[in-house]
Amino acid sequence: MEKRRILTGDRPTGKLHLGHYVGSLANRIRLQEEYECYFIIADLHTLTTRPEKEYIDDITENAREMVLDYLACGIDPERSVIYLQSAVHEVYELNLLFEMMVTVPRLQRVPSLKEMAASANLNEMPFGLLGYPVLQAADILMPRAHLVPVGKDNESHVELTREIARRFNFLYDEVFPVPDVMVGDVPTLVGTDGNSKMSKSLGNAILLSDDTKTVEKKVTGMFTDPNRIRADVPGKVEGNPVFIYHDIFNPNTAEVEELKERYRKGAVGDVEVKKKLSLALNNFLDPIREKRNDFASRSGFVDEVIYNGTVKMREEARATLNAAKKAMGLTGIWNRISRKAEKARKARDE
Ligand code: ATP
Ligand code: MG
Repeated sequence: MEKRRILTGDRPTGKLHLGHYVGSLANRIRLQEEYECYFIIADLHTLTTRPEKEYIDDITENAREMVLDYLACGIDPERSVIYLQSAVHEVYELNLLFEMMVTVPRLQRVPSLKEMAASANLNEMPFGLLGYPVLQAADILMPRAHLVPVGKDNESHVELTREIARRFNFLYDEVFPVPDVMVGDVPTLVGTDGNSKMSKSLGNAILLSDDTKTVEKKVTGMFTDPNRIRADVPGKVEGNPVFIYHDIFNPNTAEVEELKERYRKGAVGDVEVKKKLSLALNNFLDPIREKRNDFASRSGFVDEVIYNGTVKMREEARATLNAAKKAMGLTGIWNRISRKAEKARKARDE
């Protein structure tokens, strides 16, 4: 039996952070064997909030850094396809066809879009940003993916993809699977500042490529229990970002439990809790950093990975777009016209 397929990816807006890892990357790495995986460098999606030339000029370097992060975490380019969205022209076309399968009020109800507009300081909603989940549907359905591992904020987008797939199949023919969403073990990782989402743009992220000293510095500056002004004041563990990170990244559960107990009693200082967290995070990141450096030192390697993946994806995309247009009867229009034109030309020439 053919393997089922995964599609997911990220916008090339910078280096990846711990939130990307627990929200989506960890699942990708885990499922790489079982599924045929397609990972998209979603550069067209960056245009929805940042269409200015200066941002477009950053995409090449950001894409390289992001793919280095993928490889460093264990995504295997021999097995998985990593491709550049803007170089797969079929996606622009499929996006347009899918625009007919959805209403504006439906898109206006997608919760993340308003937040994205606000955090990009946009007063009014660009047409393209409203269409963000439609373009995402074109991405997901292009390789006819069955499963989409993403963070919590993307769940509602995949729901829309499901609706578009159903609508298309109902109107025309069963071309697309209705894909399932898979949210990571940590649906949304909190930021170092206690803000509900770790995010590049909010400056509250620990990058997968941060060096030891940077991690220590970021952890030292982390938000903890705001009511705890001294080490002998009993503290709150629940919802405390330092302990949330301990629970996720410190494999020494006995140490974590012991720290929590003392924290609740006011018998441990923030300094000790944070020092142990830095150690745990650096242990987690060490092998990733090492692999990253190794891949970064191979000149042109990352570009080759993206190139090969994109060539492969283009083939897949052509087949899907053809199937979609055929099902819709669009291919037939041109075929009939061109056949008749050809005949007329021949008749005239004879
Ligand atoms: P940022 O918000 O930091 O700029 P991003 O939102 O631009 O990052 P996206 O490309 O939108 O990154 O998302 C890539 C994937 O990573 C998505 O599946 C998203 O849900 C997931 N993700 C991003 N941040 C987090 C987080 N803090 N916790 C869990 N998952 C996350
Ligand atoms: Mg996002």
